Amino acid sequence: MQAKIHPSTPVNLRRLAAVLRRGGLVAIPTETVYGLAAHALDAKACRAIFQAKRRPANDPLIVHVLDLAHAEQLAEFNATARRLARRFWPGPLTLVLPKKNVVPGIVTSGGPTVAIRAPAHPLARRLLRLAKIPLAAPSANLFGYISPTTAAHVREGLGRRIPDILDGGTCTVGVESTVLDVTNPSRPRILRPGAVTAAQLGQFLGVKVHGARSRGARAWQLAPGMLERHYSPRTPLVLQHSPAKPPAGIAVVWLRQPRKSVAKNVFWLSKRGSLAEVARNLYNVLRRADAGRYRQIRVEPLPAEAGGLATAINDRLRRAAAKR
Ligand code: AMP
Ligand code: MG
Repeated sequence: MQAKIHPSTPVNLRRLAAVLRRGGLVAIPTETVYGLAAHALDAKACRAIFQAKRRPANDPLIVHVLDLAHAEQLAEFNATARRLARRFWPGPLTLVLPKKNVVPGIVTSGGPTVAIRAPAHPLARRLLRLAKIPLAAPSANLFGYISPTTAAHVREGLGRRIPDILDGGTCTVGVESTVLDVTNPSRPRILRPGAVTAAQLGQFLGVKVHGARSRGARAWQLAPGMLERHYSPRTPLVLQHSPAKPPAGIAVVWLRQPRKSVAKNVFWLSKRGSLAEVARNLYNVLRRADAGRYRQIRVEPLPAEAGGLATAINDRLRRAAAKR
């Protein structure tokens, strides 16, 4: 059986909301990447997420809610977290806070904190409104592989493991949410960079917002998505500038579309070179390069000083390139 991709008709949305209420799994679009959603207060439903993704139990899930009022039922908010939610929700900012008892341990991998966000995607919001439950939803891909940004990507990876995918087109952001630990409000810390940047957060809060330490066992315990190798194609990936005439058998990924036509092993991440465009196309291009049976994928890294989204994009590329 292959998963069904459902167009977002009112009837389908009602049906899929009912599936979620009953404890079933549905892959849903969000503005960041597609998520594999289940009833966040139903431990059995959440266990099915881990099984379908082959995700280790020590990698906690993000819970999706409509708004701050719903989030406050699940986590202990402080004043800083409330301000952040009012400013950045709905949107790609996940807040890590002490969990309340209603949240099952499986969602937080047994830990005392829960990660929560309100997604901006209109279909995710309609489903949340219809289902009237919080939805735990990690990215809808097999653990460790490239996250999905279209319904077809979800089907490629999980098509034989889940029944239902809601089609919401291509994700507009294209990389996963920023994960911000606000358990200590005087020292907010980014556990995973995303579309909401450290500079934006720091400016809004008027404090320095610290980035994640990228290596070591500590980082793994704090945010397992911080795993060194992650978001990875099957083909070995290296970060390196490559010439216009790459050797045959090697896929080359440029940041910008070349002016002249090029060999079919040359891919590019944007037409005009904007970071938003690079983020939006990143996973689709990596998937296409991975499907081409090349020996290696060489990706041009972004200049570190580019700032903004470049931090998140380089973070994902570095993890995609990390050794097994
Ligand atoms: P995914 O949705 O697949 O990108 O994975 C969710 C990621 O959110 C995890 O891998 C962690 O990095 C992060 N996360 C979820 N819950 C927590 C938590 N309680 N504390 C820290 N990070 C979390
Ligand atoms: Mg993931």
